[in-house]
Formats: sequence, structure tokens, C-alpha cells
Amino acid sequence: MVVGARSALFLPFAALGLIVVDEEHEQAFKQQEGAIYHARDMAVVRARIEDCPVVLASATPSLESFVNAQGGRYTHHRMTARHGVAELPRVRLIDLRQERDPVEVEHKAQWLSPPLRAALDKTLAAGEQAMLFLNRRGYAPLTLCEACGHKFTCPHCAAWLVEHKYRRRLACHQCGYELPMPTECPECHESGTLKPCGPGVERVAEEFAQFFPGARHAIASSDTLMPTGPGEMQGPLRLFARGEIDVLIGTQIVAKGHHFPRLTLVGVVDADLGGSDGDLRARERTFQLLHQVSGRAGRAEKPGLVLLQTRNPEDAVMQALARGDRDGFYEQERSFREAASAPPFGRLAALVVSGPDGDAVRETARQLGRAAPAARDVKVWGPTPAFYALLRGQTRERLLVQAARSVDMQAYLKAWLAGVKVPGAVRVTVDVDPVSFF
Ligand SMILES: [Zn+2]
Ligand SMILES: [Zn+2]
Repeated sequence: MVVGARSALFLPFAALGLIVVDEEHEQAFKQQEGAIYHARDMAVVRARIEDCPVVLASATPSLESFVNAQGGRYTHHRMTARHGVAELPRVRLIDLRQERDPVEVEHKAQWLSPPLRAALDKTLAAGEQAMLFLNRRGYAPLTLCEACGHKFTCPHCAAWLVEHKYRRRLACHQCGYELPMPTECPECHESGTLKPCGPGVERVAEEFAQFFPGARHAIASSDTLMPTGPGEMQGPLRLFARGEIDVLIGTQIVAKGHHFPRLTLVGVVDADLGGSDGDLRARERTFQLLHQVSGRAGRAEKPGLVLLQTRNPEDAVMQALARGDRDGFYEQERSFREAASAPPFGRLAALVVSGPDGDAVRETARQLGRAAPAARDVKVWGPTPAFYALLRGQTRERLLVQAARSVDMQAYLKAWLAGVKVPGAVRVTVDVDPVSFF
């Protein structure tokens, strides 16, 4: 037996009898650099070549696999029993629009609402553990000068610099550019005017410590955890598992895998994060991530409680999570995609044009836009600046192709690209069925 990452799919086998893809919905299975392919799809192809079964496993499958299972292309096996004797956690929504009152302003509470603090109180008093989840590293995602409005951005990327308070640095999470935390504004040269905006895990931890000075807490993010071998737990996670920490405050690094028997409360600080960036799969990803985080609560004998802080409690993702209605969410997402002819009901491809010379990139993108062959059931959008219009010093423009399922996308793209001369310093990347629109 071979347990491997993506590349294991290319290994030779004498008699391959079964392929298992665990957590098949994981975006990480899709390689973003170089040859772009989805490991799940490769596994299905390899299984077909070898004439052996393939198992795609997930508690929150990708919509593609859900639709394939519904349509009878895949056989659907359901595991209805939860690990051990634990019941599913109760999920409740906290409407942040209702939770802003003058008392709050007085207490300077910004990220932990009264219902969440009350639940934390109760959990800690019972000698149980809690986890606070916010999928954002660092202290604050934006630093702003209150005097002149200057925002700190990365010189190489169209991205804000994230404050890391413990390290006293501003850092770009796209390219790694860093500078020491400035004491004055580089624009107006006032000092004492720089203000952190929005929370990262470090800031949530700071507020938690103000309200619960006696509780032991730790931060778990890729800044505080080093990569380890499979099955290994380290630092904050190990202390939490041993009960030496009461509250773990973490990013998506805490979302999966680990079993914490005394963890009964999960608080999601900002359930709306990442829900509305115009990305086709943003809703699916949000549902999958929050479902996974929720699953951390109450995995032993004690029932779990999950509190989701949101400003959109009526949103379908929030409602499905609150009702524990996974299939309902998938049904809705399915009809939404079907109506929009979006994958898996239509085909989608992204062309990203990039290079160090912005003018050359934009000119090539314009030429590509003009050269798009007219074809039935094919629509081309753009060029427009990509989500990260500047990334690691590369200017990026994007074109999107939307087509009916009957269209041979590969042939269309080939014909299109053959008609455009791309200068040497400009790169065109084609991503069929893109998982992210960055
Ligand atoms: Zn300023
Ligand atoms: Zn950068």
C-alpha cells in the first residue's frame, strides 16, 4: 500500500486494486503552479485506466462529486454514525447586528459578543475547553493612518500588509515582504496616528485575555506551528490535547484532524469571512470550512455547542449550518450553479496574463480579448485586473471563458492561443475549471 500526496498518482503499480482520496473536496488537491490538474480527477482517470474502484471520501464533498453521486455516475455511500458516542453539536447563530449596544462600546468589546462570552464563561466554569476560530493570521489585516488615511500596502502585490504584533512587523501574506512596525506615517510623518483595522487571531487572543484573565489560552496558526510529520501534534495543539490550555484561538490549521475530548464549545469569530469575494466556490468553501470547524465540538461523551458570529444570519450557508442541513445546502448550491450554467453544469476556464511589465501584460491581454474566436455557447469576459492585480511584482490580468458542457474547451483554448503572439516576458496561464479566481 502507498500512502501519498498528489504525485503518488503517477507511481507505477503492479496490480492496483483500489484508490482512496481522503477529504476529496480539499482545494489543496489542485496544484496551482505549473501543470494545473486536480488530483481527484487524476485519481478517477487512473482508476479507470487500471480498471479498479476509487473511493472519494469527505464529510463535505465537493459539489462536483455530490452532483455525480446524485446523477448515478458515482455510488453514494453514507456513514451516518459519528465517531464514538458523540452527538452532533448544536449550532447557533449570533446576529452581530443585534449585539452592538452602548454597554459594548464601554467594555471595548469588539470581536467577542456577549452571548459568546457567556458561553465561554459557562464552558470554563465547567472545566471544559473552548476553541475560537478566525481564519486570519496576525493581529490586524490593515493598518491605517488616522491623520491622512494612508494604508500600508505591499510594494510587490496589490495586498494590504498584515500587522504581526508579537513580531512587531508588517507582513505581506502573498509574497513574504516585511518591514518593522513603523512608529510614524510614511506619508504625513505624524506619529501615534497608525491604527489597526479588523481582527486577526492575535487580536482576538488579546481581547479574550482582557475578559478572561485567569484562563489559559494559546494561538494556533502557521505562525506558531512548525510543519511536522503526519499524526504529530506540537506546541499549542499538544498542550490543548493534554488539557494544559483552556482555550485555543486558531486559524484553519485547527479545523481538522485532531481529537480533543474535552472541547465542547467552538466560537466562530467571523463566519462571514471569505463568503462574498465573487468567487464561484466561495460559498461552498465557507460551508465546508465552518462545517469542519463545527465538528471539533463535543467529540467525546459531552455534547458540543457551536456559536457562529455573523452579520448575515439569513444567508443560506448560515441557515444550513444552523439546521445541520448539509444536503439542503448542496441542493440549493446545485440549483444556483445550474441556473448560472456554472461548473459542473457548464465549463469555465481562466486565462491569467502576467509579467513584470504592466503595459506589456495589459496589451497582451487586450489582444487576447480581441482574438477570442466566436463560437456557439461560448462567452468570454475580460480582460480585467485579476483579484491580485499585482502579485510578487507581476502585473496580472484575467480573462474568463464560460461555455456549455457540450463545448470542447481544450480545442477552443488551443485555437484561441494559437492566434496570439505572446511576448517573451509575458506569461499566459490557462486554468480549466479554476478552483480560485486569484
Ligand atoms: Zn499619515
Ligand atoms: Zn507582497
